[in-house]
Amino acid sequence: MRVNQRRAAPMKLCDLLSVKRSLFVIFVGGGEVEMGYRFAVMSGIFLLLFSSGCATTRSESAPVVVKRTQMQMGTLVTITSVASDRRRAQDAASAGFQEIHRLEELLSTWIATSELSQVNAAAGRDAVMLSRDTMKVLEASLEMARLTEGGFNILVGPAVEAWSVLDRQHIPSDAVLQAVRPLTELRSLHLNVAERTVYLAKPGMRVDVGGIGKGFAADMAVAAMQAAGATAGVVALSGDIRTFGRLPGGMKFPFGVRHPRHEEAVLAFIELQDEAISTAGDYERYFERDGVRYHHILDPITLQPARDCQSVTVVARDGLTADGLDTGIFVMGRERGLALVERLPGVGAVIVDRDGKVWVSSYLKGRVRMNDGIE
Ligand code: ADP
Ligand code: MG
Repeated sequence: MRVNQRRAAPMKLCDLLSVKRSLFVIFVGGGEVEMGYRFAVMSGIFLLLFSSGCATTRSESAPVVVKRTQMQMGTLVTITSVASDRRRAQDAASAGFQEIHRLEELLSTWIATSELSQVNAAAGRDAVMLSRDTMKVLEASLEMARLTEGGFNILVGPAVEAWSVLDRQHIPSDAVLQAVRPLTELRSLHLNVAERTVYLAKPGMRVDVGGIGKGFAADMAVAAMQAAGATAGVVALSGDIRTFGRLPGGMKFPFGVRHPRHEEAVLAFIELQDEAISTAGDYERYFERDGVRYHHILDPITLQPARDCQSVTVVARDGLTADGLDTGIFVMGRERGLALVERLPGVGAVIVDRDGKVWVSSYLKGRVRMNDGIE
């Protein structure tokens, strides 16, 4: 199972541009589309894609590729849309962004009027009626908690707040963490599927879907794009990504997984079709104190940052699964996490453990190409 004892060569993305460019001259319906590299998603996973600026289509009937980026859900969202004509590709991209906006209004706890903010405000008081979409995210979250043996927990919000990794860079005392612990217990979250309500039994409890919501939004945006006539595309909310179909010319969508310790270096390459990919890492939001790294993914048992992995990348058929699992497996750690992935059909993982060793699950063996040539 262990595939790589060496650190991946810290190859720069700009080096790849020249190395790989030739691969990206593809042919569409008799017209040649020249594609230059562009790294669209500067997060855990890079979409290795062409820039629309240098795409030239010589055939009237060739599929058109449009790429647009917006700030949504507190992150950079990039949508790549493929359709039979430019108008349709643009409309599909717009439909994707609109869908993410709609979900943000339901799920974001930064928006005081969102459904989840109302759920949190009613903690210890009332049950709150949910939309089907919010209900779906909460049901999936509880399923993820079960699968990851409590590693994934949408109630860790008060503990995340106590750590406040970005704002205060503050190490909370044991007493503070013990005080919030009762608020993080999933048995105090009552989901009534039949009546479509949720009730948080204790005041101060808070639902936080930061570890799964972006994957769900990617799934929903893809459905909206398909309904609007896109034939293929990618929805990337930072490192939470869902693809559908193939590029014009038949290529799958190529991605680079970021090295967790070498910024701008690619750890591994993978191509996807009709799949999602998601990375949870300890390198995006963290601070260091006395040589110890404190980051934003907490182990619900200890309420300390999870320690066993540097990054966990999950490939699954849908974004909800990939995003929920990357966070949960990050907490479970390499050994139990890989054992879980091996049991789940259509799910694969690339895990960089605490020592920097890279592990690839059997579903992805042969599909993942390490940057240093070792697979
Ligand atoms: P991101 O793409 O934002 O880094 P991740 O999928 O890595 O998201 O999830 C991290 C976020 O999930 C944190 O910012 C926090 O809001 C929340 N979180 C932290 N620990 C857990 C946990 N054990 N289970 C579920 N969510 C968590
Ligand atoms: Mg996640």
